[in-house]
Amino acid sequence: MAFKILLAHTRGFCAGVERAIGVVQRALEKFGAERVYVLHEVVHNKHVVADLVSKGAHLVEELSEIPEPSTKVVIFSAHGVGLDTIEQAQKLGLTVIDATCPLVKRIHTKVVKAAQNNMEVVIIGHDGHREVLGTTGQYAGPKDKVHVILTPEDVANLSLPLGAHQAMFATQTTLSIDETAKTVAALKAKFPLIEGPKNDDTCYATQHRQAAVKLLAQECQLVLIAGSQNSSNSRRLSEVAQQYGATSYLIDDASAITDDMLQGVTAVGVSAGASVPEYIVQDILTTLKNKGATQIEPVGEIQRHITFAWPQGLE
Ligand code: SF4
Repeated sequence: MAFKILLAHTRGFCAGVERAIGVVQRALEKFGAERVYVLHEVVHNKHVVADLVSKGAHLVEELSEIPEPSTKVVIFSAHGVGLDTIEQAQKLGLTVIDATCPLVKRIHTKVVKAAQNNMEVVIIGHDGHREVLGTTGQYAGPKDKVHVILTPEDVANLSLPLGAHQAMFATQTTLSIDETAKTVAALKAKFPLIEGPKNDDTCYATQHRQAAVKLLAQECQLVLIAGSQNSSNSRRLSEVAQQYGATSYLIDDASAITDDMLQGVTAVGVSAGASVPEYIVQDILTTLKNKGATQIEPVGEIQRHITFAWPQGLE
């Protein structure tokens, strides 16, 4: 087997994920491991979560699982939480550190305002995903005024009883750019007066990583995406690669690479979701070299390094 590797320049950790992981690490140092609880996976990557747990962070799915809450610190994940969770944390006397990505927070602010203005809200996203739950949970009003849709078919079935002049839309940050464009176009065609972003609310990390994967898929028969199955942005990268003509696998790490995947392949594309540490990518490259890769060519634009300020309580 001899093949070359095309490696996406823009890959792996985004600013929101770096910040969320840093928040947990700082909190562990500042408050001590016995006091630090993280509500849900702080980012959707099994290696990152296992590493933070090994450093002492406690992972919980419900605030009610935290013993003696008035003495504890809870960290909200990068995906954000709804108003009811914030209220519950306050009632329990928890010290809250909010690691919600600032780009998700920006969408929260729009939903909060929509509720204040008695507008209906359409969220384009994956129903049940943590980010979507957090975003819809910002709406302080009747829940039947919030609609979660994903596809143009969902738009066809959507009705807005208050009228489109009383409605706004927002999107999940990690959706497929191409697929979301179709849904937004259908939404604007059916409800021309609906308020919303020009295109969508996908974040810079989603846009840049998908653009790089499109380049990989045009040059490679196989594209390997590092990322966990529950990571929305990672799954979308693998789907984009398939839509652009490559066979693609979403893999947690190098151990998932098999000789069968590489049969007859002359170029393998490699990228990683926004929650994937760089050491996972380097392990994948080493494994591919051991299996016959002859060279590595970087592809796409070089990633600009963006950072976000620390949240309140950890500045
Ligand atoms: S993927 Fe985008 S929205 Fe999500 S944490 Fe990263 S920068 Fe923030």
